[in-house]
Amino acid sequence: MPHWSSLIREVPDFPKPGIVFKDITPVLADARGFAGAIDAMAAPWRDAVPDAFIGIESRGFIFAAALAQALGTGFVPVRKPGKLPAQVIAHDYALEYGRDRLEMHADALRPGARVVLVDDVLATGGTLRAALSLAQRQGATVTGAAVLVELPALRGRALWDVAAPLHVALQG
Ligand code: AMP
Repeated sequence: MPHWSSLIREVPDFPKPGIVFKDITPVLADARGFAGAIDAMAAPWRDAVPDAFIGIESRGFIFAAALAQALGTGFVPVRKPGKLPAQVIAHDYALEYGRDRLEMHADALRPGARVVLVDDVLATGGTLRAALSLAQRQGATVTGAAVLVELPALRGRALWDVAAPLHVALQG
Protein backbone atom coordinates (compact mmCIF):
# COMPACT_ATOMS: atom_id res chain seq x y z
CA MET A 1 0.00 0.00 0.00
CA PRO A 2 1.34 3.48 -0.79
CA HIS A 3 2.23 5.70 2.18
CA TRP A 4 -0.49 8.22 1.35
CA SER A 5 -3.29 5.67 1.44
CA SER A 6 -2.84 5.15 5.18
CA LEU A 7 -3.45 8.88 5.68
CA ILE A 8 -7.03 8.76 4.38
CA ARG A 9 -9.31 9.02 7.42
CA GLU A 10 -12.70 7.34 7.48
CA VAL A 11 -15.37 9.40 9.26
CA PRO A 12 -18.54 7.39 9.95
CA ASP A 13 -21.98 8.98 9.59
CA PHE A 14 -20.80 12.13 7.80
CA PRO A 15 -22.52 14.10 6.35
CA LYS A 16 -25.48 11.75 7.03
CA PRO A 17 -26.00 8.53 9.02
CA GLY A 18 -24.78 5.52 7.08
CA ILE A 19 -22.20 7.38 4.97
CA VAL A 20 -18.55 6.56 5.66
CA PHE A 21 -16.79 9.72 4.54
CA LYS A 22 -13.27 9.39 3.09
CA ASP A 23 -11.48 12.43 4.51
CA ILE A 24 -8.44 13.22 2.38
CA THR A 25 -7.33 16.30 4.34
CA PRO A 26 -4.62 14.35 6.25
CA VAL A 27 -3.13 13.34 2.87
CA LEU A 28 -2.94 16.99 1.82
CA ALA A 29 -1.35 18.02 5.11
CA ASP A 30 1.52 15.56 4.66
CA ALA A 31 4.10 16.71 2.09
CA ARG A 32 5.17 13.18 1.15
CA GLY A 33 1.59 11.97 1.18
CA PHE A 34 0.30 14.74 -1.08
CA ALA A 35 3.22 14.32 -3.49
CA GLY A 36 2.71 10.55 -3.55
CA ALA A 37 -0.99 10.89 -4.25
CA ILE A 38 -0.34 13.32 -7.12
CA ASP A 39 2.39 11.05 -8.51
CA ALA A 40 -0.04 8.13 -8.51
CA MET A 41 -2.79 10.14 -10.19
CA ALA A 42 -0.42 11.69 -12.74
CA ALA A 43 1.28 8.46 -13.84
CA PRO A 44 -1.27 7.41 -16.51
CA TRP A 45 -1.13 10.83 -18.19
CA ARG A 46 2.63 11.52 -18.31
CA ASP A 47 2.95 10.22 -21.87
CA ALA A 48 -0.31 11.79 -23.09
CA VAL A 49 -0.63 15.08 -21.25
CA PRO A 50 -4.13 16.53 -21.80
CA ASP A 51 -4.85 20.17 -22.66
CA ALA A 52 -6.50 20.54 -19.27
CA PHE A 53 -7.39 18.70 -16.09
CA ILE A 54 -11.01 19.44 -15.16
CA GLY A 55 -11.43 19.64 -11.38
CA ILE A 56 -14.82 19.03 -9.75
CA GLU A 57 -15.69 21.28 -6.80
CA SER A 58 -14.39 21.20 -4.25
CA ARG A 59 -11.82 18.53 -3.48
CA GLY A 60 -11.38 17.79 -7.16
CA PHE A 61 -9.96 21.33 -7.52
CA ILE A 62 -7.06 20.46 -5.24
CA PHE A 63 -6.03 17.36 -7.16
CA ALA A 64 -6.70 18.75 -10.65
CA ALA A 65 -4.74 21.94 -9.97
CA ALA A 66 -1.80 19.96 -8.60
CA LEU A 67 -1.92 17.60 -11.60
CA ALA A 68 -1.99 20.55 -14.00
CA GLN A 69 1.10 22.01 -12.36
CA ALA A 70 2.87 18.66 -12.18
CA LEU A 71 2.33 17.96 -15.88
CA GLY A 72 2.58 21.53 -17.16
CA THR A 73 -0.94 21.92 -18.47
CA GLY A 74 -4.17 23.79 -17.74
CA PHE A 75 -6.88 23.58 -15.08
CA VAL A 76 -10.61 24.10 -15.65
CA PRO A 77 -13.15 24.18 -12.78
CA VAL A 78 -16.54 22.49 -12.71
CA ARG A 79 -18.49 24.23 -9.95
CA LYS A 80 -21.61 24.10 -7.82
CA PRO A 81 -24.46 26.36 -9.06
CA GLY A 82 -24.09 30.13 -8.97
CA LYS A 83 -20.33 30.25 -8.41
CA LEU A 84 -18.97 30.89 -11.90
CA PRO A 85 -19.23 34.54 -13.01
CA ALA A 86 -19.67 34.26 -16.78
CA GLN A 87 -22.17 32.33 -18.92
CA VAL A 88 -22.46 28.67 -17.88
CA ILE A 89 -23.82 25.34 -19.02
CA ALA A 90 -25.39 23.14 -16.31
CA HIS A 91 -26.07 19.46 -15.64
CA ASP A 92 -28.29 17.95 -12.91
CA TYR A 93 -27.38 14.64 -11.27
CA ALA A 94 -27.95 12.33 -8.28
CA LEU A 95 -25.18 11.73 -5.74
CA GLU A 96 -24.63 9.38 -2.79
CA TYR A 97 -26.29 11.80 -0.37
CA GLY A 98 -28.80 13.90 -2.32
CA ARG A 99 -29.10 15.69 -5.64
CA ASP A 100 -26.98 18.42 -7.11
CA ARG A 101 -26.15 20.45 -10.18
CA LEU A 102 -22.77 21.21 -11.70
CA GLU A 103 -21.81 24.09 -13.96
CA MET A 104 -18.96 24.94 -16.29
CA HIS A 105 -18.20 28.17 -18.09
CA ALA A 106 -19.80 27.91 -21.53
CA ASP A 107 -16.51 28.90 -23.20
CA ALA A 108 -14.18 26.92 -20.92
CA LEU A 109 -13.17 24.31 -23.51
CA ARG A 110 -12.50 24.64 -27.20
CA PRO A 111 -13.94 21.90 -29.45
CA GLY A 112 -11.46 19.05 -29.71
CA ALA A 113 -9.61 19.96 -26.52
CA ARG A 114 -8.28 16.81 -24.83
CA VAL A 115 -9.29 16.81 -21.19
CA VAL A 116 -9.09 14.55 -18.13
CA LEU A 117 -11.73 14.76 -15.37
CA VAL A 118 -10.50 14.76 -11.76
CA ASP A 119 -12.14 14.12 -8.39
CA ASP A 120 -11.11 12.79 -5.00
CA VAL A 121 -13.72 10.05 -4.51
CA LEU A 122 -15.82 8.01 -6.96
CA ALA A 123 -18.98 6.92 -5.11
CA THR A 124 -22.21 6.47 -7.09
CA GLY A 125 -20.56 8.01 -10.15
CA GLY A 126 -23.17 10.72 -10.75
CA THR A 127 -20.76 13.58 -10.18
CA LEU A 128 -18.16 12.29 -12.61
CA ARG A 129 -20.87 11.50 -15.15
CA ALA A 130 -22.20 15.06 -14.88
CA ALA A 131 -18.72 16.49 -15.49
CA LEU A 132 -18.31 14.13 -18.46
CA SER A 133 -21.56 15.44 -19.97
CA LEU A 134 -20.51 19.07 -19.49
CA ALA A 135 -17.15 18.48 -21.21
CA GLN A 136 -18.72 16.52 -24.05
CA ARG A 137 -21.35 19.23 -24.63
CA GLN A 138 -18.51 21.66 -25.25
CA GLY A 139 -17.07 19.39 -27.92
CA ALA A 140 -14.07 18.39 -25.84
CA THR A 141 -12.50 14.95 -26.16
CA VAL A 142 -12.50 13.36 -22.71
CA THR A 143 -9.39 11.19 -22.75
CA GLY A 144 -10.07 9.82 -19.29
CA ALA A 145 -10.64 10.43 -15.61
CA ALA A 146 -8.37 10.43 -12.57
CA VAL A 147 -9.81 9.67 -9.14
CA LEU A 148 -7.89 9.15 -5.91
CA VAL A 149 -10.27 6.67 -4.26
CA GLU A 150 -13.02 4.46 -5.71
CA LEU A 151 -15.76 2.98 -3.50
CA PRO A 152 -16.40 -0.14 -5.62
CA ALA A 153 -19.45 -1.24 -3.61
CA LEU A 154 -21.35 1.78 -4.94
CA ARG A 155 -20.73 0.73 -8.57
CA GLY A 156 -20.13 4.28 -9.79
CA ARG A 157 -17.97 2.92 -12.59
CA ALA A 158 -21.13 1.64 -14.27
CA LEU A 159 -22.05 5.23 -15.16
CA TRP A 160 -18.68 5.73 -16.91
CA ASP A 161 -20.08 4.77 -20.31
CA VAL A 162 -17.22 5.91 -22.51
CA ALA A 163 -14.21 3.99 -23.81
CA ALA A 164 -11.71 6.41 -22.22
CA PRO A 165 -9.93 5.00 -19.15
CA LEU A 166 -11.10 5.74 -15.62
CA HIS A 167 -7.91 5.56 -13.54
CA VAL A 168 -8.23 5.13 -9.79
CA ALA A 169 -5.22 5.37 -7.49
CA LEU A 170 -6.80 3.39 -4.64
CA GLN A 171 -9.76 1.01 -4.29
CA GLY A 172 -11.52 2.06 -1.09
P1 AMP B 1 -20.82 10.37 -6.48
O1 AMP B 1 -21.45 11.35 -7.40
O2 AMP B 1 -21.81 9.60 -5.67
O3 AMP B 1 -19.80 9.49 -7.17
O4 AMP B 1 -20.06 11.22 -5.38
C1 AMP B 1 -18.80 11.72 -5.63
C2 AMP B 1 -18.63 13.10 -5.05
O5 AMP B 1 -19.16 13.19 -3.72
C3 AMP B 1 -17.18 13.44 -4.98
O6 AMP B 1 -17.05 14.80 -5.31
C4 AMP B 1 -16.80 13.16 -3.55
O7 AMP B 1 -15.98 14.18 -3.07
C5 AMP B 1 -18.11 13.14 -2.78
N1 AMP B 1 -18.32 11.90 -2.02
C6 AMP B 1 -19.31 11.02 -2.20
N2 AMP B 1 -19.25 10.02 -1.33
C7 AMP B 1 -18.17 10.27 -0.57
C8 AMP B 1 -17.56 9.59 0.53
N3 AMP B 1 -18.05 8.44 1.02
N4 AMP B 1 -16.44 10.14 1.06
C9 AMP B 1 -15.94 11.29 0.58
N5 AMP B 1 -16.48 11.98 -0.44
C10 AMP B 1 -17.58 11.48 -1.01
